[in-house]
Formats: sequence, C-alpha cells, structure tokens
Amino acid sequence: MFNSLRSKWISLLVVLLSLLMLLTGYATLKSMRANSLQQAEQSLNVASKVFQQALDTRAAQLTNSVSLLAADFGFRQAIATAEQATVESVLQNHGSRINAQLALLFTPKGELLASNAPMDAVDLGRLMSATGSNSAVTDTLLIDGQAYQLVVVPVRAPALIAWVGMGFLVDVPLAEQIKGITGLDISFIQLNSQSGNQLTSTLPAQTQQLLLPQLNNVTSLAGTTHFASDFSFITRSKPLDNEQQLWALLHLPDDRWLASYQQLRRQLVEIFAFGLLLALVAAFMFARSISKPLSQLSKFATDIGQGNAAVPPAISQDEIGVLTSTLVNMQHSIAAREQQLRQQAEHDALTGLLNRHAVEQRLPGILETQHGTLLQLNIIQFKHINDTLGLTNGDTLLQLLAQRLGHHQPAAVFCARLNGDEFLMLFNETLTEQQLVDLYRSLQPAYNIQNSLINLKIAIGIYPFEPGQGSASAALRRVDLAQENASQAGGGIAFYQHGQDETHQRELTMIRDLPGALNSGQLYVVYQPKVELATEQCHSAEALIRWQHPQLGFISPVEFIATAEHSGNISLITQWMLKTVIKQLAAWQKDYPTLRVAVNLSAADLLDQSLPEQIGSLLQQYQVPASALALEVTESAVMQDTNKVIANLNTLKAMAINLAIDDFGTGQSSLAYLKQLPVNEIKIDRAFVKDIETNNNDALIVGATVKLAHGLGFKVTAEGLENLAGLSYLKESGCDTVQGYFFSKPLATADFSLWLTNFAAREKPTMEVSE
Ligand code: C2E
Ligand code: CA
Ligand code: CA
Repeated sequence: MFNSLRSKWISLLVVLLSLLMLLTGYATLKSMRANSLQQAEQSLNVASKVFQQALDTRAAQLTNSVSLLAADFGFRQAIATAEQATVESVLQNHGSRINAQLALLFTPKGELLASNAPMDAVDLGRLMSATGSNSAVTDTLLIDGQAYQLVVVPVRAPALIAWVGMGFLVDVPLAEQIKGITGLDISFIQLNSQSGNQLTSTLPAQTQQLLLPQLNNVTSLAGTTHFASDFSFITRSKPLDNEQQLWALLHLPDDRWLASYQQLRRQLVEIFAFGLLLALVAAFMFARSISKPLSQLSKFATDIGQGNAAVPPAISQDEIGVLTSTLVNMQHSIAAREQQLRQQAEHDALTGLLNRHAVEQRLPGILETQHGTLLQLNIIQFKHINDTLGLTNGDTLLQLLAQRLGHHQPAAVFCARLNGDEFLMLFNETLTEQQLVDLYRSLQPAYNIQNSLINLKIAIGIYPFEPGQGSASAALRRVDLAQENASQAGGGIAFYQHGQDETHQRELTMIRDLPGALNSGQLYVVYQPKVELATEQCHSAEALIRWQHPQLGFISPVEFIATAEHSGNISLITQWMLKTVIKQLAAWQKDYPTLRVAVNLSAADLLDQSLPEQIGSLLQQYQVPASALALEVTESAVMQDTNKVIANLNTLKAMAINLAIDDFGTGQSSLAYLKQLPVNEIKIDRAFVKDIETNNNDALIVGATVKLAHGLGFKVTAEGLENLAGLSYLKESGCDTVQGYFFSKPLATADFSLWLTNFAAREKPTMEVSE
C-alpha cells in the first residue's frame, strides 16, 4: 500500500508539513517562553523594588522617630542622670507611637541601658558591630532569634553618651503587607548552620515544607532562581543584613508566568493538528487527482496489451493528457499493425486469396455448424506450363485463374490458394451438378498471357459436407483425394467417394510402416509347390510374401504390393524377397538340390538396370546356382518400356535364371508377341483354370494356349487348381506343371520342407487316385 504513488505523495506532504510546523512551533514557543520568563523576571524586579520601598519607608519612619528621641533634651537628661525608669518609659512611649516592636538603649561601650527585648551578648555584639561610625545606622539584625529592621542613632550631650535604637520585626505581617501590594508570596529565611534554617512565609505550610530543603545554598543563588518542578516557582532572593544571614525571597508561581505560554502552546498544538488534518485531506485529494487518472491510464494500457477493446480515459490538459494521447496513438498503431499482420498472415501474396493457414482457421467453425460444398481445383501439368512460359507468366496465369474464381457466381464463402497450383473454394450450399459443370466451364475459356491464349486443364475435387461430419483436416484430405482422382482422370470433376478416406488412411499407414516391418519380422515368405504332371514330382515352388501387421492384422499382398508400387517402395520388397529366398535356397541346397523357387517381380523392378547384377551378387554371396532361382513377370510389366525390359530379361536369362510370364491370358498381348520375349515359361491365369472342369471355353483356351506355347518353346504352368476334377483336364491339355490349393496352399518354410518330404514319399500317384 505504501508503494502506491498516492501514499507516497501523502506521506511526503505530511512529513514536510509536520517538519515545518514542528520547527515553527518550536521556534515560536521558545521565544514565547523566553519572553514570558523575561516578563516574569520583570514582575519580580518590580516586586523587589516595592519590597525595598516598603523597607525604606519603614527605615525612614524609624530614623525619624529615633532621631527625634535622640535630640530630646529630657531624654538626654534622663540618660545623663541615669534615671532608669524615665528612660524606659520614654523609650516605651516613643516605640509604641510608631508601632516599633523593638526599643533599646546602650552605652558606646556596649552596655545595655534599656531594652524591651531580652538580649544576650551575641545580640549585643552584633549590635555594636553595626554602630561603626557616629551617624545613624539602619540594618536588619537578629535579636533574640527574631529578625528586626533596626535603626540605631547616637545620643550626644554633646559628647556621645549612648546609642538609642528601634526596630520593626521582619515577619509574616510585613510579608503579607507587601504581598498585598505585589501579589507575590514572600518568605524570610534565617540561615543558621547549628539550629537549622528558619523560614517564615506567606506560602501555605505544605509548600514551605517543600521549599525549605532547597534553600541550603540560597546565598549562592542570589538573583533569580528556578526551583525544582515539584515546587513550581521562580524566586528572587535578596539578602537583608550585612552578614547575609537573613534573606527575603519573592515567589512568582510558574502557572502565572507560564499560563499564557501554555495557552499559546495548546493553541499551537491545535493549529498543528488542524493543519495536519487539512494537509492530509489536501494531500489525499491531490494524490487522488493524480493517481486516479494514472490508474485509469494503467488499465487502458493493460487493456491495449491484452488486446481487449480499450476505451481511453478523457484527455486532460496536463502531462497525463500527453501520456494518454501517446497511448491512444500507440493503440491505433498497434491496431493498424495487427490488421496488416493479420492480412499478411491470412492471405496469399500472389493472388490475394486466403492462404492455407487461414483456411485451417476458418474451416472448423463452418464444418461444425453448416452444410455446403468444398471444392479443390488443380491445374493439370502446371509444372509443364511454368517451364514453357516462365515463372512470371505462370504467376500471372495463377492470378487470372484466382480472379475467375473470385468473380464466380454464386459467390463462394471464400476462395483460397493452398499451394502452387492448388485452389480451394467453399460454398455454403450444396451445389447442383449443373452448377458444378457451369463452374468447370467458366474456367475453360483461354487465358490471355501477353496476347497468347493459354488453355488450362483443370481437375476439380468435390466434397459436399453436412454439419459435424469430421475435422477440417479430414475435409481437406477428402477433397484432396477427390481432386487427385480428377487429376488422374486427366481433368474434370470427381466427387469424394464414401470410404476413400479410410482406404487412403490405410495406405498411408502401410507406406509408413513398411520399412520398419521388413526389419522386424512382420513380413515373411510362404512357398507354394508346383507339381510336374508327367512325373508327379515337385521340383519347384513360388515364393509369396505375407504381412502380419500389428494393428491392421493380416494384409493381403494384392493390397500392400499395389500400395508399394504406387508409392515407389516396391524395390524394398523385391530386394527383401530376393535376399530371403536366396538365403533359404542356400539352406535347402543339401536336401533339395533340384528345387527351384520363383520370386515375383513388379514392373518397376524390370526397369531397374542394376537388377541382374544385384541378383548375381546375392547368388554368389549365398553360393546358390542361378538355375535354382526363377522370376515371374506379368505381361503388363513387360509392355511398359519394352526395350529396357527385354534387355534386362536377356541378361537374366543369360545368367540361367528361369523366367516366367505370370497371369497369362489377362493382358492384351498375344502369344505371337510373346515369342520375342526371352522367357522360359508361361503361367496360365487362375481365371482359366479354376472352373476348367465345368467351363468348356476355359478348357479349350487352356488346351490351345498349351499347344501354342509348346510350339514356341515355352513350358506351361496352370495356376489355381483347387480340385481333383480339374486335374485330368490339365493333364489332357498337356500342361507341364500345376500350382494350386489342390496340391497345397502356400506354406511356411518348415511346413513346406515337410510337405516336400511327404510328397516325395507318398504311395500312390495323385492322378491315379483321381481316376
Ligand atoms: P500370383 O503371383 O498370381 O500368385 C498366385 C496367387 O494365387 C497367390 O496369392 C496364391 O496364394 C494364389 N493361389 C494359388 N493357388 C490357388 C488356388 O488353388 N486357389 C486360389 N483361390 N488361389 C490360389 P497371394 O499369395 O495372395 O498373392 C497374390 C498376388 O500378390 C500374387 O499373385 C502376386 O501378384 C502378388 N505377390 C505375392 N507375393 C509377391 C512378391 O513377393 N512380390 C511381388 N512383386 N508380388 C507378389
Ligand atoms: Ca506369380
Ligand atoms: Ca499368377
């Protein structure tokens, strides 16, 4: 909380103000106090003067009276004649006339002639020392333990015959009298080290008790004295006698001189408190006036940062206003840049259409809730066009095509360029066949590139969708598959077919998993025996591949061989097969030296000119004679690039490897054409064999084929014999060997070895049994 700007402001202001007020207050109070003290001392001075005045008045009174007495003839006579009674009565009368408490008479030698107070030698001694000269003396003296203001006057006749004195008691009534004038309490103190100091005072008895112990060194405190706090007076002390044994103390109570000071102090504290409160309120309001717009600004900035719709606070005329407008400018530039970035991120720079990223962003929402049609367009052989016209013209062509797509009616929800020559259109309705044809036709008219008219072949894949039928990536894959089909057909329109997607997925899985599967034992070879009809012996077999996939289960070779051929992976399989089979042949050399095993080749294998060499080195490596290996190729594989294939086949045949034409009868080629092929054998397709015993045509075809093949010097194998009934037809037609479930299904290695042994050792020839 103390970190906020507001509290910092408040604290700073309050601290500064407090400091200022404390300093001012301190200075004011200090001078006030000094001033008050000065005034107090002034009052003490005045009181002291009044006090002195009173003493002086009394002294004058005494002097007058005593001088009159000393000059009185009768009195002098009485002294001279030593009339004790007269002297005493005259003294008495005179004294009481002026209310003197003391009246006395003594000789110059110090003998006491008369006195109304008992006096001891000490008193007399003090008295004598006071009368040093011949004139009148005024002093304050202790006599009989009492302090007196005393006047002593010489009595002459004309020589000095005696001293006469009168005195007033210095006591509480005197003090009360002066207090009546000055308003100050007055104390008198007699210092006496033996019997202790004695105090008479107008102060209350309790205060006197407090005061007395503090007066021990009153002599050293001559002047103005402050007593301890429990006795709250300032006091002016004043010695009364020459010996400084008698002192008068004038007391001014603290509360009197301090009262106004204290009142001022109280007022100052009040002012201080009020000022502080005022400062707090002002500081709070001021700080708020700064911190409120600041926190509004901060919220504004945070909103901008988070990309929320931020409303700027009102722009004031001060620095905060400047800051606000800076932030507003910033907000606008950020928005502009964001807009620009979004534009760049979502659009294709060449055509201005949406890009793939934008499509992936928008599709999910649309697919979730709407129905419509997704179209993917592709220019057939655009690469060729690009190569011929140049990249710049190719780009222009793409832009022209994009324009036509953009202007098409009904308008698409969006058009996008996915990459290269691939475009996507999304319609929020299910387009009719007519609408699709119209769209296709609208793209047909020639495109004008630098005054040359270019015609494009376009393939369009179509995927009509309903809400919630699948993810965006599924939709894109489906429309892509459809477009692929249209492309393969050389252009035009193709709809996505239900299930195509799953097939595609399965193919992708197979392509992905094949290389790993070859090394991990998922693939293995089975062998299907071929039986010679003439001898009823088995000297050959066909090797067939198998794949047990961990997720997809058993996959037919028809399926994954086709996939591998499509994806260009077939050579992986062929090489693996050749190696596995040749390795196995090496192992069988001892037990079955005459066994020949055929491996199937695909079209791509036959185009590979290194194939004969690879096979040669494998045979060499495993010490297997070339005559133990056979290869099967289909008619269609041979037809593709005849010269290359024939060259390869020639090399293989020269190596003494047996070559067979597989699936004979399913292609278009004639036997006459095959004549020029360097092969040893033809395998009549299962289609002609499987129903031979019931289908006359098949029997005729097989019979004719065998005759012709034999005429051309080929051996003939019939594939797919399943039952005994067909066997006699095959034998009748002159077939050399038969392969089929009738003799055995394809067998795993160990089972095949066992089958060979059992077959050789069997008792009755199969055909005998059948007939
Ligand atoms: P294919 O080369 O014509 O192989 C003969 C197919 O016919 C084998 O099917 C075999 O099991 C089957 N067959 C044999 N006798 C009978 C029978 O009496 N009745 C029936 N219904 N079928 C019989 P398979 O093993 O499923 O192979 C299918 C095709 O896959 C093969 O046809 C071949 O074209 C291809 N293939 C198999 N292995 C390989 C290979 O290693 N490499 C290549 N390139 N293709 C292979
Ligand atoms: Ca075959
Ligand atoms: Ca075949």
